[in-house]
Amino acid sequence: MRLTFTPSLVLIVSCAVLFSGNALAQMASTATAPVPSNVPYRNAKLPADQRVADLLARMTVEEKAQMLAGAGWMESATIERLGIPGIKMADGPMGVRSWAGSSAITSGSTTAKVLATSFPSGVAMAATWDIDLVQREGQAIGQEVKALGRDMILGPTVNINRVPLWGRNFEGYGEDPYLAARLGVAYIKGVQGEGVIPSVKHFAANNEEYERHRVDVTVSERALHEIYLPAFKAAVQEADVWTVMSAYNKVNGIHCAESPALLDDVLKKEFGFKGFVISDWGSTYSTAPTVNAGMDLEMPGGAAFEAWFKRPQTAIAGNSGGWLAADKVLAEIKAGHISEAALNDNVGRILRVIFVSGLFDHPHIATGEVDTPSQKAVALQGATEGIVLLKNAPLGSAGALLPLDPAKIHSIAIIGPNASVARTGGGGSSLVRSAYAVTPATGIQEAFGKGWGGSLKLVLGVEMEGEDPDQETPEARARLVKEAAEAAAASDVAVVVVGRSSKLESESFDVKTMDLPTGQDELIQAVEKANPRTIVVLNTGDPVTMTKWIDATPALVEMWYGGQEAGHALAAVLFGQANPSGKLPVTFPKRFEDSPAFGHYPGENLHVNFAEGIYVGYRYFDTKKIDPLFPFGFGLSYTTFAYSGLTVSPVQGTTPAEVSLKVKNTGSRAGAEVVQLYLHDGHSKIDRPEHELKGFRRVELKAGEERLVKFSLATSDFAYWSPEKKDWVAEPGTFEVQVGSSSRDIKLKAPLVLAR
Ligand code: BGC
Repeated sequence: MRLTFTPSLVLIVSCAVLFSGNALAQMASTATAPVPSNVPYRNAKLPADQRVADLLARMTVEEKAQMLAGAGWMESATIERLGIPGIKMADGPMGVRSWAGSSAITSGSTTAKVLATSFPSGVAMAATWDIDLVQREGQAIGQEVKALGRDMILGPTVNINRVPLWGRNFEGYGEDPYLAARLGVAYIKGVQGEGVIPSVKHFAANNEEYERHRVDVTVSERALHEIYLPAFKAAVQEADVWTVMSAYNKVNGIHCAESPALLDDVLKKEFGFKGFVISDWGSTYSTAPTVNAGMDLEMPGGAAFEAWFKRPQTAIAGNSGGWLAADKVLAEIKAGHISEAALNDNVGRILRVIFVSGLFDHPHIATGEVDTPSQKAVALQGATEGIVLLKNAPLGSAGALLPLDPAKIHSIAIIGPNASVARTGGGGSSLVRSAYAVTPATGIQEAFGKGWGGSLKLVLGVEMEGEDPDQETPEARARLVKEAAEAAAASDVAVVVVGRSSKLESESFDVKTMDLPTGQDELIQAVEKANPRTIVVLNTGDPVTMTKWIDATPALVEMWYGGQEAGHALAAVLFGQANPSGKLPVTFPKRFEDSPAFGHYPGENLHVNFAEGIYVGYRYFDTKKIDPLFPFGFGLSYTTFAYSGLTVSPVQGTTPAEVSLKVKNTGSRAGAEVVQLYLHDGHSKIDRPEHELKGFRRVELKAGEERLVKFSLATSDFAYWSPEKKDWVAEPGTFEVQVGSSSRDIKLKAPLVLAR
């Protein structure tokens, strides 16, 4: 149901018909006198909805119209007469980014510096599968938002990794809607718990950067409900999220910011969203259709918007905006295209968030600190837990290379374009400037440093593509690779840190290829040839092709973009101070051609068909029996785990099914296992994936320790979206509960009957 506020003291809206196009200019004359301090909306003890109704009743139509557009790059409008504060925003989600202007401007070194903790990228946090940690990250970011005097953080990003080339895969929580939902909810709870406003983004089906403003996504209702919307639904229904950001793209022919199907029918009616929808920056294309669809706040606005729009690149990129400026909204009201009820609904939602977040009663005035020891500790824990050990094969009789034992190693060569540069995040609006960032080389040096008599050599090996043309000539390349091979040959161990830069993997464009940047495959091959004791470390946000060297690689680590503490985290894992426990939140295909969206990406004539439907990620690989390079949920440890004793009780009416099993650390060191629960439906009337993730637990176990792990499954966990019934359907019958340590490593199975 569309929320409609029915204030007792509605100001004469019919006077709106008297307003001309330049109504803003007349505002001063039509605004009524300042409001006394004892009116209901100023009373913090009253319910938010009552305060909203009271305040709406005191607002002029012009004041309401003024609230629908931003007042700057990162501020909503302030209505001083009534004491309505502007909402001061900052980009995220991996920390607080400068709000001084567009990312093209704030990426430069000339703008006001905002230094904040740089947390690991979303995909790295997803690889932790640690709900509690993600909530603490949200809390830490909320604290930093307040410390910097802002009110709102533009995150989390919960868009699904549909295709390995999406430029923003690093921001999101991977390919699985259940995992993304759990982590999105945790982040939001952490932020909102601090009285800071999050914005879950980008709603919806924003899964490629290619022509992101113009591309029209054709996606089935079923894929929307089962894959692309669950994280948003959970954000609304489980975290009561205060704002949702609409996406740039079109879905089924209509831009998201003016889609009644998405905003009104799904978000507001089906999910019951009570907060406000904010547009992505420059994503609106109309006035009345946008307001009427339920897009509540257009960003950016005012002079900042005008200046941005004068830049030719803005329009070339496809950004559009300025449609909800007050004079345009008032003209549409006058023409009868926007009703009072619609306007009250949009404004009422913004006001409600201002009340429920506490912003009205306790404005944030920059109290608290940034980059405190506890905030840094969360960043370090995230970077460490997120690291995925992908390979650690025995090297003859010498056993596995990792963890490295400094007592046995006398020399180490640290090689690669990602070794001595801290590449903390992908590019675009999410990249945070931190006071410091630890490079892999520094992390290794520090870990090796004190009291160690050996030698460390740091060699570039290959220039990062696009960073220094002088080093990218064939001659320079040959020289750099030769230096690297020599250093590797002369060392006990080589660590090659490769990957992308924030200029190659970024918002605004997609990654060109799944291959590593120019020269990196050749570098790895040369180093492995010179010294088989080579550890390859990937510093990327997506899977990359590894065909040229993986067979000769004994040890392989995915460190993602790990934020400011990534170098320390990597060293802790390499030297075994931390036992790796990260698990892939995304399938690593052998080659791009194997991935489900291949052939349906980036689309043609500004149109992309999500033809793979619900078969995204492991749902595709496991159903079609295509072997990935590394499966979803996979990650090695320095210890081993045994699963036993699976018991399952059936669902009884509204009482969920109980699933329990034991997990034991059977190795000789402490470690964490991520126990994953998948459901297989073998009796469905319609096509279903081989199995779907419905639960997970990250369990810390000392050597030899055993624990009972429990899950519960509600009827909704068995359901699929029926396009025919336009509802979720759980078909009675026998399902299979599968428990394992990746989608391809199911350790225990048991039947579970869903009764009629
Ligand atoms: C991005 C959003 C971001 C906004 C404000 C847009 O280009 O898509 O994620 O929050 O800019 O910087």
